Amino acid sequence: MNVRSSLAVLPVLAFVLLSVERHGHALTLVEDGEPIARIYVAAGAPDDECDAADEMARVLAIMSGARLPVIEAADRSEIHKTAVCVVLGALAEEMGLTMNRSSRASDGYRYQVNGNRLLLVAESPRGVYLGVNNLLETLGCGWYAPGAIGEVIPRRATISVPDDLDCTRVSNSINRRYWYGGKNSKGEANTAWLRRLNGDYMSGSWSHAWARLVPKELFQEHPEYFSLYNGERTARQLCTTSRDTIHVAAASLIDRMRTKGAARLEPSETLVYPAGPNDGGGLCQCSECAALDTPGYVEPSSGKRACSTRVFQFAADLAQITSREFPEKDLGILVYSDYSRVPQKMKKLHPNVFPMIAPIRRCRFHGLGNPNCRWSSLLREEIHGWANVSCGKLGFYIYNYNLADSLLPFSKITYYKELVGEVNKLDVEQLAWVFETIDSWAMHAPHMYLSVRLSWDSTIDIDAEMDRYFRGFYGEAAEPMKTYWLNIDRAYAQASTCTGACYGQHHIWTDQLLASSRADIEKAKQLARSDRVKQAVAMAEAGLRCAELFVQIWRNVGEFDFLAAAEAKDTLKDHVAAMSEKPEPHWAHERYAFGYLQRFLGLTIDDGAKILADGGKIVGKLPDVWRFSRDERAMGTELGWFRPGFDDSHWSKLATYWQSWDDQELATYHGDAWYRTSFLLPADAKGRDLRLWFGGFDHNVDVYLNGHHLGERRGFVKPQEFSEITNCLKFGEHNLLAVRVSAGDLAELGTGGIMMPVMIYAAPALGMHDGSAGRPGQVAD
Ligand SMILES: [Zn+2]
Ligand SMILES: [Zn+2]
Repeated sequence: MNVRSSLAVLPVLAFVLLSVERHGHALTLVEDGEPIARIYVAAGAPDDECDAADEMARVLAIMSGARLPVIEAADRSEIHKTAVCVVLGALAEEMGLTMNRSSRASDGYRYQVNGNRLLLVAESPRGVYLGVNNLLETLGCGWYAPGAIGEVIPRRATISVPDDLDCTRVSNSINRRYWYGGKNSKGEANTAWLRRLNGDYMSGSWSHAWARLVPKELFQEHPEYFSLYNGERTARQLCTTSRDTIHVAAASLIDRMRTKGAARLEPSETLVYPAGPNDGGGLCQCSECAALDTPGYVEPSSGKRACSTRVFQFAADLAQITSREFPEKDLGILVYSDYSRVPQKMKKLHPNVFPMIAPIRRCRFHGLGNPNCRWSSLLREEIHGWANVSCGKLGFYIYNYNLADSLLPFSKITYYKELVGEVNKLDVEQLAWVFETIDSWAMHAPHMYLSVRLSWDSTIDIDAEMDRYFRGFYGEAAEPMKTYWLNIDRAYAQASTCTGACYGQHHIWTDQLLASSRADIEKAKQLARSDRVKQAVAMAEAGLRCAELFVQIWRNVGEFDFLAAAEAKDTLKDHVAAMSEKPEPHWAHERYAFGYLQRFLGLTIDDGAKILADGGKIVGKLPDVWRFSRDERAMGTELGWFRPGFDDSHWSKLATYWQSWDDQELATYHGDAWYRTSFLLPADAKGRDLRLWFGGFDHNVDVYLNGHHLGERRGFVKPQEFSEITNCLKFGEHNLLAVRVSAGDLAELGTGGIMMPVMIYAAPALGMHDGSAGRPGQVAD
């Protein structure tokens, strides 16, 4: 026998008997601050079991002041016959408690009170650790975020558990990966937190894999293994209908299954091996491969032909071979990009193929069946379709942030409720989860917690779980903080915009939401007393400050006040930098919080501010709303849509910057389109060096001024300008500006066309101005 805890003070037997008798319906572990129970774990037990025992002793000591001894016993005969004992893992099994359920992830657990024993068994040592933490949660403890800010341990002198306690839990997922984008990869506190809540368990991988299955080195000798693209073989993708490709790729997979496991897992433990296409499109165009696509069946975000059948037929051909030797191992394929739609030519996937839906082309705000979102009914239909063709296996790769924005507070509680509400109705036995996450806790804290919880068990009561979260994490400030987050959650769920990046955010962050959020935070600050709760509230307040500054910046841009926007942006930059320096959990991820704003809005502001700071004068602010027409057949130029005399009165009206293409039902439009507007210039602008400036567009503008072709510019939200336009301009009468745009390839954000303000400005007279050669607007000339 070996006492792991040096603080052990064993209570006398009589005291134990007395205390059990006194409580009758409970097994008492600590009585009035005195340790009653001992914690037993098998000598030489795996780390997870030993850590579980130590963690239980640590937490109960914080709760009660009493340190329970942790004892390593060689076998059950060393367990005290009459004392109150907590027995973990293999020793508890020796004492007769067995698991009554099983899971493929092998980390379910069961705990039960049996007389004066509290026994805990699990499918694996990892399950023992999860089980102990779950038991501590039933005593009121909570881990709501990584690190000290998230650890909530109630204080009580007596700790007991019901004597009829018998709880079994198994996970319905085989993978729970929490993937942090950017440099703030998972640190120690995050790792500990995930291990405690969901086992931090990766059973394999679903990543892009064809390049690994058939290495590029084979291209010289066997170009026919690879994709035919625009008439040439290229190593970008594979020719997946070739029997040789199938055999080479299957052999690679079998080799990996024999020798290489997933990170932290042995090959024998790894369940899923990646077998999906390389990222970036360009699938094989040979007649055999192309014949697997269904004409007219398209991926709406790109307008390209859906190519799921060929991807999943290839996976089936591979699985047919690999499953002979490895019937327990699956091939992981992402449902993604142009292979998001349910395959039309396959009734059933191979049973060893595990699809994982990665809805990057769908909506991050709206859950399934949300009437405000055109994507949400499509995604619901797809989830049902994939569940039908899959053999009880379905994974989800969910974006825990708004893709190209993690600057503003965001909440996905309703999203997750709607998603798992639907998923739980499906005939799916095994789920798998990957959450692509940005380490911006000030912006995402509640749903980051929720995603971790539901990834272990999708059937949890989400309302109850979130109630527990708000009460636990925000303590005495729970009431206003719950209101704060649920208002934000509702604002996203009800938003009419789905645009990725920051472009739709001013529709969500209305004056009303800003004001009510500020009022909630002020109320919470008044209520917060403990340092931990003050910090939790301060973290949320820092996120709200980002929203306040963002809305100010966006308004300034809409008013062409680029100097004010630049000043507010500098303030925001410093604010986010300070947030990102917090230890785990990081309050904001500098690159993805401020950096994305800089990339998607900042170039416009910087260029506009530079023009004004250098002495440029705005002489014409073009309106937000222009005349607009689609040009599906690209006939506009031929039809003279650029001519001043062309009658555009039957065209629709479209906002250029205040609303995105997605907001105006153009997210799935893939052809050319034209914008037209007219403007007056003051007579005193005559004779000055005038420039036509576009703050940003996606991804081109082909510009005609009063019928003169000024030329084309390309780039994604990069300010660009046309100089030497003076000869085309008229003063004191209307000028006609016509712009042809074509939709870019970026299908994830719902953007397109003119996205930022357009203006005519007078460059400063020569000698006053350092020239604009160095400005980003000039690079595409
Ligand atoms: Zn092919
Ligand atoms: Zn949406």
